[in-house]
Amino acid sequence: MSVLHPCLRCGACCATFRVAFHWLETTDVAGSDDDAPAVRIEWTQKLDPHRVAMRGTDQPEPRCEQLQGEIGSHAWCGIYRQRPSPCRDLKPSFEDGETQSPQCDRARARHGLPPLTAADFQ
Ligand code: SF4
Ligand code: SF4
Repeated sequence: MSVLHPCLRCGACCATFRVAFHWLETTDVAGSDDDAPAVRIEWTQKLDPHRVAMRGTDQPEPRCEQLQGEIGSHAWCGIYRQRPSPCRDLKPSFEDGETQSPQCDRARARHGLPPLTAADFQ
């Protein structure tokens, strides 16, 4: 039986994709209340007039600056409650027991990790 959630032994998606989102999600405009914590603007870099990216992810070998630990063994988001929408939207494969996530599988493959199966959540 797994003790840790599989994402806490992974972190691959935080070091695979450019994490881009609308600047309305940042503290520049959203403020920061406890129910809907915003992404701090200093954690991001500007991409264009409308979008920002998490620092560290807009490069050939991405690694979000907020990713803590070591990929594939012990990794976690240092700003979990304030993570942006792309991070909230990316679900691990088979977390619900039946849905595969191509992004999760691709990120794990990039880091030499096998795709998750439903057994990883039992
Ligand atoms: S790649 Fe998949 S398992 Fe790994 S942290 Fe991201 S969602 Fe979780
Ligand atoms: S904000 Fe957190 S969940 Fe999103 S890419 Fe960075 S470390 Fe990963």
